[in-house]
Amino acid sequence: MTRAVVLNEYGDPSVLRVGDIPEVSGLPSQVLVGVCASGLNRLDLFVRQGLTGPGVRSPRELPHVMGAEGAGVVLEVGPQAETDLQVGDRVMIFSGVSCRRCRYCRRGETSRCAQYAILGEDLWGVQRERLWIDPTNLLSVPARMSLVEAAAVPTTYTTAWTMLLTAGHLRVGEKVLVVGASGGVSVAAIQIAAEAGAEVWATTRGTAKRDRIAALPGVRGVLDSSERGWHEDLLDVTEGTGVDVIVESVGAPTWRDSIQSLSPGGRMMLCGATGGDEPNISIREIYQSHRQIIGAPLGGWNDFVDVVAMLDRCALRPLLHAVMPMEQIVEAHRILEESAHVGKVVVTIDQGDLAAV
Ligand SMILES: [Zn+2]
Repeated sequence: MTRAVVLNEYGDPSVLRVGDIPEVSGLPSQVLVGVCASGLNRLDLFVRQGLTGPGVRSPRELPHVMGAEGAGVVLEVGPQAETDLQVGDRVMIFSGVSCRRCRYCRRGETSRCAQYAILGEDLWGVQRERLWIDPTNLLSVPARMSLVEAAAVPTTYTTAWTMLLTAGHLRVGEKVLVVGASGGVSVAAIQIAAEAGAEVWATTRGTAKRDRIAALPGVRGVLDSSERGWHEDLLDVTEGTGVDVIVESVGAPTWRDSIQSLSPGGRMMLCGATGGDEPNISIREIYQSHRQIIGAPLGGWNDFVDVVAMLDRCALRPLLHAVMPMEQIVEAHRILEESAHVGKVVVTIDQGDLAAV
């Protein structure tokens, strides 16, 4: 048996249980990881709620094991595993599982694979003591990064990197606006954009969150997006130019203002719609100013490798809002649900003397 965060029924955070599940045996080609920490994502809330609709996958079979991203230590290497990893190595677990053979997978664009599946959503997740997994989903943790920090990287930073660089084609000196900044992906986008030489703006709600985001290195200013019409403030502070790239994950409540904040030819990058899926928009406001709306969910293995290399080179770290033991998973979900956080919420899994996280 192995301890895990288990979902037996859909509902509010109180439905989550920490308990024993049968240990799933691995293939000879796989690697056994002792999971030490797992970052929470908005995805975890949708899975727990049993959300369905366009872009949200149909309900999973229950019971389900939660958790999309994590980090841990290699406990065992299967006899047929094609990998240089060795027992004791520190690894990050990438959320996307794909066929590895189709034309998308072969060029690293794994999230376009027809068989693409996400740990913790389509498949049992990483919030469990032990996990057998293909070594193609594991990447070594940079030496200067802790396992707790590494657990907040795979889904979060790959998504932000894909939006800004791979799909958004961000250039040095461009202006970037991160809308509804506070969650892990938003903070990651701020860090990456600043490091890439962009002029970074953000919007959020509430003075406590605004002050914390304004203190992040490279942030030029933070606007209040509580009221519709905030794009006029954005145009004021950018001297009428607007911004070249917008990172949008809020959706319906902010789309109209976001589009009106884009410069001619500007790109609005989408990775979520947490506030609503059906925005009120003006089509003319889009095409008459050459504006682009581009979907960029998660990202592929290549993006993951690239963003980890950048984090290492630039000594960037995930901003951690809270770190708590897996046994407090209900509280961890509540923090995310209340949206009072700035940065990542990470749960840790006690592995005894195995690893200093
Ligand atoms: Zn494929």
